[in-house]
Amino acid sequence: MSVMELKQINKFYKIGGGGTFHALKDINLSFEKGELVSIIGESGSGKSTLMNLLGGLDTTFDGEILVDGKNIGHYSESELSEYHKEKVGFVFQSFNLISHLSVLDNVALAMTLSNVPKAEREKRAKETLALVGLQEQLNKKPDAISGGQKQRVAIARALVNDPDIIIADEPTGSLDSETAAQVLEIIKDIAETGKLVIMVTHSEKVAAHSSRVVTIDDGKVINDQPGIELHVKENVFKTEKTNRNKNLSIFGAAKLALLNMKEKLSRNLLIALGSSIGIMSVILMLSLGSGVNSYLTSTMNSQVNPLVSEVHMPPEESAGADTPANEMMEANPIMSMTKQTPFEQKNIDELAGIKNVSDVEEGYTSFSIGTNNATFNDIKAPFMYLTTVSSMITSSDILEGSLPAEGEVMITNNLAQTFDDEVIGKTITVETIVNEQALTLDLIVSGIYGSDTAAGPAAAMDSIYLDYTSLANYLEDEGESLEPNVVYLISNDKDATQGIKDDVSEMGYEGSSTEALASTFSEMLDIFTYILSGVAGISLVVSAIMILTVLYISVVERTKEIGVIKAIGGRKKDIRRIFVSESFLIGLFSGAIGVGIAALLALVANIATNNLFDVSIVTLTPTFAIAGIVLSIVISMIAGVMPATKAAKLDPVESLRRD
Ligand code: ADP
Ligand code: MG
Repeated sequence: MSVMELKQINKFYKIGGGGTFHALKDINLSFEKGELVSIIGESGSGKSTLMNLLGGLDTTFDGEILVDGKNIGHYSESELSEYHKEKVGFVFQSFNLISHLSVLDNVALAMTLSNVPKAEREKRAKETLALVGLQEQLNKKPDAISGGQKQRVAIARALVNDPDIIIADEPTGSLDSETAAQVLEIIKDIAETGKLVIMVTHSEKVAAHSSRVVTIDDGKVINDQPGIELHVKENVFKTEKTNRNKNLSIFGAAKLALLNMKEKLSRNLLIALGSSIGIMSVILMLSLGSGVNSYLTSTMNSQVNPLVSEVHMPPEESAGADTPANEMMEANPIMSMTKQTPFEQKNIDELAGIKNVSDVEEGYTSFSIGTNNATFNDIKAPFMYLTTVSSMITSSDILEGSLPAEGEVMITNNLAQTFDDEVIGKTITVETIVNEQALTLDLIVSGIYGSDTAAGPAAAMDSIYLDYTSLANYLEDEGESLEPNVVYLISNDKDATQGIKDDVSEMGYEGSSTEALASTFSEMLDIFTYILSGVAGISLVVSAIMILTVLYISVVERTKEIGVIKAIGGRKKDIRRIFVSESFLIGLFSGAIGVGIAALLALVANIATNNLFDVSIVTLTPTFAIAGIVLSIVISMIAGVMPATKAAKLDPVESLRRD
């Protein structure tokens, strides 16, 4: 049975204006093993067209080209890929070697596409290169070798999978006569090992070395003549085809992409650097926001006992401005904060009933300006806050001394400094108004309250702290009774505290105003962070467009390479994979660079803020870093989809057309 049989082949090219061009007309040919067929004819007679059909690069024709009894015009994509990988090898006039791959890698490429293990791939490639006399040039790039050597590399590439058919379109057309003769000798050797070699040539001299000469004119076979006799030799190109049906691995694709990127290193570095800026800014913004926020939160938490929830009564409906004092309080939000509704027993019982509440502490706070004074040694200092002590005050808040007992008072650090003396243990006179009752008390200072990172109104402003029961007693002495206007719920588990706070607000009570302020602030900070990150994110769009452009340029630059990969059996999927790998790698690199720069800037910023304020202001968490890299990869791969698809769709005949 013949290796290849052509029956009634007609080829029509679509041309501009809806017409067609009849390039091949009723071709009937049959080719056998061990033939060296020269196809000759004038330029434009249809030789290349015929070769493209025989090689399965163009499958749109009428008639049948039977290989092993099956029409290659009806092959599926995977059958066609198999045909290119195992059955047919191409040799082109312009060599079509891939410039960024070494001689060895060029020859091994077909096996890379079949995912043949590296060691076997290289062994077979070396053996085949040795057969064409090129064992010395393995690691050179194509640019570094002569035309004759390039064509021998191309022949080795065509032979490496031991195909039955070699298609050569003017293989000696670009060579001087001496190297042409050497190449021809190799081609003749190939045919003598039993392969079918079909070769287009212009030269009668070349044709004279063939076992058969087919002449084409105007798309028709006009002559088919036997030539010299060939002597059959042993097939030295035999390989074990153990890797059928295997395809290019993701790793293999990434490696091919990497080799190409290495070739255009500075360009790819610039792109990665450019698109890293967007990633870097987003990461920095998020880290800054999170750093500031966690600084605030930790400051807040250091002020607060995690087991305690502060509760206030909801503000009362305005009962009308009946007193000037009331009028003033309503006009001024800070003042109205001071006129806090007292708790009744039923409120306290209700709060005590909340799940996980183990204790309810009663307390009293008042805020006023102008009526509160503390006097020591004739130094009279105003204070604004009067608060009873509660579990809210943690021992870390007490700078010196202890909590006040009966007859004692704790004062803030500021106030203590106003008195300019060792004030602990000394008596100060406190004038204040509690429940509209003026009190003048001589109290011994028990301790000084304050913290380095003072937050909250009571700590920031001059305040005094009294024991609740004692305050109730002082008032009772005046014939008044003290009603709590704040209660502190103690939870039996610090993880339950938030739940208690939620229940409290659901029941209509108010929480700590400081906490509410802090949480509003932190929400605003979050919004601000997201807005800034969003603005920074715009540069990600710029990156994406940049990557898109570069990959498009890459596709155009690599048109020939894509054609070659298809000719040696690369599927659409493989091509896409190579380009998607490239965009993956660009994304990975730019993400890594972005994270690296962000980390560096964060470090510098933190050193600066640590020197100035003793805090690290940028918190670059691993999550941000990983998210940044992933985001970069995703953006880059999205940008890579269109160029990769374009590359995959390229027509191999178009891509390989001589220019
Ligand atoms: P040869 O290789 O013998 O020089 P070709 O096979 O390249 O000739 O071309 C045969 C004829 O088909 C020429 O007239 C050429 O212009 C035409 N042709 C080749 N490719 C195309 C194409 N893609 N579209 C239209 N016409 C084409
Ligand atoms: Mg041609």
